[in-house]
Amino acid sequence: MRSEAARRRTMARIRLIKTQWVIIGILLLALVISLATRPSPSAASQEPPETSAPVVAAPEVTGPAETELDVAEEPTAPEESELIQLGSFKTTAYCTCVKCCGIWSSEHPSRIGTDYVQKTATGTIPTEGRTIAVDPDVIPFGTVVIIDGHEYIAEDTGSAVVGNTIDIYFASHDAALQYGVQTKTIYIKGE
Ligand SMILES: [Zn+2]
Repeated sequence: MRSEAARRRTMARIRLIKTQWVIIGILLLALVISLATRPSPSAASQEPPETSAPVVAAPEVTGPAETELDVAEEPTAPEESELIQLGSFKTTAYCTCVKCCGIWSSEHPSRIGTDYVQKTATGTIPTEGRTIAVDPDVIPFGTVVIIDGHEYIAEDTGSAVVGNTIDIYFASHDAALQYGVQTKTIYIKGE
């Protein structure tokens, strides 16, 4: 008797488990169906943007246009007032070799064996992209000189650098030769 009752109980438990699995299966099906039907509402939501697009596009066009004008007006005005055009200059090129610097070159026979360090007229180490030699009567030492949009510093001079002439320093003699002689419109930074 006890065993039959136990069997019935276990049978009832199995039925319960079976019905639970059926319910889980239905729920999973419902989930799958709901996921499958989602694309259609999203496709419907893709259509509205077409009608709302002109409303969104209108402020976007006016927004950047205003900011572009503000950005364009602000930086150009100070830059123009800061830069002073010195006009047309003859620009040449030099390096630290004996051909370019003669007795001032560390490669000059009189310098070899000494602790001589080749420096500019202002005591700096000549550096390509920064050092230029000027006539200090025309451009004072320390002046920021703009050539082709690049900022150089007037920190050297030379016997041949007189008047509206600028000698641009290059790290190698070949690079200096390649530059040759060019006429440039020179700008300096005003205070
Ligand atoms: Zn040289």
